Amino acid sequence: MQKETPNKAKKKCERKVAELHDEALFKDPPPPDECPICYLILPNEEQTTFQTCCGKIICNGCMIVMVKETRAKGKPGLCPFCRKPTSTSEKEEMKRLMKLVDSGHSQAIYNYACYIRGGDRQDWVTANRLYLKAGELGCAGAYYNLGGSYDQGRGVDVDEKKAKHYYELAAISGGIDVHNVLGGLEAQAGNYIRAMKHFIIAVKSGNNRCLGHLKVGYKSRIITKDEYEEALRSFQQRQQRQQETKSDERDQAGAARISERATFGSAFRRTEDHE
Ligand SMILES: [Zn+2]
Ligand SMILES: [Zn+2]
Repeated sequence: MQKETPNKAKKKCERKVAELHDEALFKDPPPPDECPICYLILPNEEQTTFQTCCGKIICNGCMIVMVKETRAKGKPGLCPFCRKPTSTSEKEEMKRLMKLVDSGHSQAIYNYACYIRGGDRQDWVTANRLYLKAGELGCAGAYYNLGGSYDQGRGVDVDEKKAKHYYELAAISGGIDVHNVLGGLEAQAGNYIRAMKHFIIAVKSGNNRCLGHLKVGYKSRIITKDEYEEALRSFQQRQQRQQETKSDERDQAGAARISERATFGSAFRRTEDHE
């Protein structure tokens, strides 16, 4: 048997690494996150509340049930998950958040990063450092925002390669909307097959912004009829599940456009770019 030259072995190894990377990047989307109280799929970010007591993300429908129950008894609000009283000041809320941050809670680190880059603070350098940390701990949204920072030069020099790298890490960590961005980047670079792979994942996860791209892909014969139809089927199923997540309480919470600090006591909402 002929011995492999070091160059050949290196190439083989690089190919394998690229294959494994793509396998992780184009895997089936994860199931959607559920509210830990009502077990329905979590709605959009604006309709959820991050609890600094226990670090859970709870739907505003469940939050409003809690508010009604406790107010009827003339008591202060309690967390529907851990039953800890709602914090009464921003100082206390921050103290709770920092406790979670120090314990390595990825969502809390992410929320804190969003907080310090917002308002008058605009500390993008620290925010990017925290996004990286939260991303490494499994937070897809944090990698997404870090990709956005390199894309737009927020606290770092613009670097398209790094932007794509972090966008891909967001997708590998289970991010969904980021596939829309990655599909666009691949299409711009002329990599239409890779672009379609991203759009298919996004559509299957219920992202309707990629439906048009997929239709173009099908008409241009980049994807097959079967692939197109399967993606549409999954999209419809996901839409149906989304419909089933509506509840009277969630509608009430949405209609009230609740001032979350006053009602739920949470000052630290995610203010992410995407995801
Ligand atoms: Zn709920
Ligand atoms: Zn709690």
